[in-house]
Amino acid sequence: MEESTNVAIIGGGAAGFFAAISCKTHNPNVNVTIYEKSDKLLAKVKVSGGGRCNVTHACFTVSQLVKFYPRGEKQLKKAFAYFNTNNTVKWFESRGVMLKTEEDNRMFPVTDNSQTIINCLIRETEKLGIAIQLHETILAAEKDEERFKLTFREKVIHADKIIIASGGSPKKDGFAWLEKLGHTIEPPVPSLFTFNMPSESIKALMGVSVDNASVRVVGTKLKTEGPLLITHWGMSGPAILKLSAWGARILNDLNYNFKIQVNWLSLSNEDEVRSILGNERTAHPKRKVVNSESFKLPNRLYLFLLEKLDINPDTTLEELGRKNQNRLLNTLLNDEYAVEGKTTFKEEFVTCGGVSLNNLSMDTMESKVCPGMYFAGEVLDIDGVTGGFNFQAAWTTGFIAGKLGSDK
Ligand SMILES: Cc1cc2nc3c(=O)[nH]c(=O)nc-3n(C[C@H](O)[C@H](O)[C@H](O)COP(=O)(O)OP(=O)(O)OC[C@H]3O[C@@H](n4cnc5c(N)ncnc54)[C@H](O)[C@@H]3O)c2cc1C
Repeated sequence: MEESTNVAIIGGGAAGFFAAISCKTHNPNVNVTIYEKSDKLLAKVKVSGGGRCNVTHACFTVSQLVKFYPRGEKQLKKAFAYFNTNNTVKWFESRGVMLKTEEDNRMFPVTDNSQTIINCLIRETEKLGIAIQLHETILAAEKDEERFKLTFREKVIHADKIIIASGGSPKKDGFAWLEKLGHTIEPPVPSLFTFNMPSESIKALMGVSVDNASVRVVGTKLKTEGPLLITHWGMSGPAILKLSAWGARILNDLNYNFKIQVNWLSLSNEDEVRSILGNERTAHPKRKVVNSESFKLPNRLYLFLLEKLDINPDTTLEELGRKNQNRLLNTLLNDEYAVEGKTTFKEEFVTCGGVSLNNLSMDTMESKVCPGMYFAGEVLDIDGVTGGFNFQAAWTTGFIAGKLGSDK
């Protein structure tokens, strides 16, 4: 790339920084400038992962890694072949940032402080001589001949190449300037939220969790499994967050009013559950239902379910009777709740939707409709479930975009 080449990076978030650093590393002769609309750089990195920054996820096989992305699964296969979780770990470690893996495979800096990641990225930009301009909001981009004319709120500049890393937007209007250039915008809707259940008395059990529930949205094919947490507004935990991500569009269409069925047990086969309870009854006919050891549910939850069914917890197993036993089994396996609204998950939330991946070449992240324009991060119609996958997508797409199509 020629010495006089000017590259404008729009957005000073995770993807913008990674793209800028990759750009200057792969193309040392070019001038790289990050334009950030606010007065803060890497603001989301700072608050991410509860202030600890869940940088990536310890999943090192591309075919498994892509399964964590409700949007982008197919296309990311190609991108992860260039830069994946292995590369992220090496990238940070080679710059002195050691990462650790937690029990659930989320990876954090060993300092447990997102500032470590911010310091590393800022240090790299300084070392490479990348310019940064704050308070610069891009309003429009036009392409004349070979160059881009970029209109910011306060000024107009020209750039030879442009990398868009402006993040997600809750409204489609936020993407209007990109649509005007011919890009297709998948309408943005929220992902990664928890469920509000104002009419459900189960909220009284806030703080109670089960290790492995499965949750189904009634009338759809949406179903997930995992830990489930009861909160003072409804339900949260990995099972619910995954459902919100995979169902982001469907649940938006339902206006966040729908019914879920919870299977509180790790078992799904009703006959199997019936036989476990039957064996316990044969062995301990005088045992009270409340003391049953068949289900291993938190006591408060089990009592709540018995109360909901009007079953006296002091009834013995032999007194329970076939009808109540069936009612109990049905509730344990198909417990229905009404969801009325959602709450943002403060640890991590993202936008589903953005610039359509059909508009891009995933080898380079270059726009097919506007050559010379590259994309990285959440501005794209890519999003993952919680666990470090969203930053991983930002690092990967930023790294590739920064190469500006070069193979070096
Ligand atoms: C509270 C919270 C916690 C999170 N925690 C995690 C986590 O631990 N792990 C994880 O993987 N993901 C996490 N995420 C998701 C992750 O932060 C995002 O997916 C990621 O930041 C996307 O990076 P980005 O650079 O594409 O966008 P952003 O980080 O949103 O950066 C975009 C930048 O562009 C700027 N910009 C926007 N429009 C313009 C414009 N017109 N002109 C100039 N600049 C503009 C913005 O001001 C912003 O600085 C979290 C999200 C939130 C909200």
